[in-house]
Amino acid sequence: MTPESALQLQKLGYDCVIETGAGVKAGFADAAYEEAGVAVVDGPDALWSQADIIAKVQPPSDEEVGRLSADKTLISFFWPAQNEELMKEAADKGASVIAMDMVPRISRAQKMDALSSMANIAGYRAVIEAGNNFGRFFTGQVTAAGKVPPAKVLIVGAGVAGLAAIGTATSLGAITYAFDVRPEVAEQVESMGAEFVYLDFEEEQADGSSSGGYASVSSPEFREAQLAKFRELAPEMDIVITTALIPNREAPELWTPDMVAAMKRGSVIIDLAAEKGGNCKLTVKDEKIVTDNGVTIVGYTDFPSRMATQSSSLYATNIRHMMTDLTPEKDGTVNHNMEDDVIRGATIAHKHDVTWPPPPPKTK
Ligand code: NAD
Repeated sequence: MTPESALQLQKLGYDCVIETGAGVKAGFADAAYEEAGVAVVDGPDALWSQADIIAKVQPPSDEEVGRLSADKTLISFFWPAQNEELMKEAADKGASVIAMDMVPRISRAQKMDALSSMANIAGYRAVIEAGNNFGRFFTGQVTAAGKVPPAKVLIVGAGVAGLAAIGTATSLGAITYAFDVRPEVAEQVESMGAEFVYLDFEEEQADGSSSGGYASVSSPEFREAQLAKFRELAPEMDIVITTALIPNREAPELWTPDMVAAMKRGSVIIDLAAEKGGNCKLTVKDEKIVTDNGVTIVGYTDFPSRMATQSSSLYATNIRHMMTDLTPEKDGTVNHNMEDDVIRGATIAHKHDVTWPPPPPKTK
């Protein structure tokens, strides 16, 4: 909750409560909440006992699940596939649980799509992080003190994070290249001022698309063609940002040790797939390392947290939109309409039942 979203929530008929200091690290002081009509309470006991609807970022702890009851609704990231036990416990308590990571990726739900909001921030921040670890300008310059070549940036994976990274890198003046297994993104990549990397591959570069805009696993031949292209590009690239993911799998290994070895001293790799094992084999999750040949590899998994003010604002807006859909009468009462595709898709526990996985949405 931000002070701004609290004002909107009150227009839906709700009273808002927040724990002391909850917004401080994101730049929102208790006083700002109070000014927006929010009751600031001391500690989790006071908060959980008063609130009918609890919105948070991370999945609940065991202790928090213990605080749930049949009259409470929890809204948070949940990752149900990885937290099945927790989900069952929440269902046993009779609480309704909305997993923000399960909001279906249909047009109508975009305003609540927190995965996209956070991926957008991660993509932006990846470029900023790369710049911070790179000793030169992004843009080429001719100055009295000499000529500076532009940086060359390769973005692997042009989903939400990749496109944000492309936009940021091109706006800073880098020569930007991007690759994705889904050929339909080539046009988007090019419209943002980057060059799409095509493979020398006999079949059309249509290998990697599957349903819902996500990628599927590449064939061995396609993968070889992709790696051969990356080997060719590695010595030229100053910055490589990898974002390639396949739903419910470990990240594909795309940037191999020999590619790292072929890169110039001072080059930077930002591996946004580090959470899922990394696209680069040498990535160390949550750490920054420098290889013997002077390549910095960043495996941080908390890029949105490194921009807490922005992340909180966007996430609070996603939550507020979810609350708007849950409160059609604007009467401060949740109407948990399981006929609504978005609410149904995101609900993983309801009325003592586990309601995950959901049926596919009926609308686009
Ligand atoms: P993601 O995080 O699952 O994957 C990131 C990217 O990696 C994807 O573009 C994928 O194609 C790519 N990738 C996978 N394997 C690769 C490989 N071997 N080499 C190179 N790239 C590889 O994806 P995402 O960013 O969450 O979203 C993917 C797509 O989902 C979007 O581009 C969009 O079409 C769709 N989407 C739709 C909505 C909506 O309609 N509400 C919202 C968000 C995303």
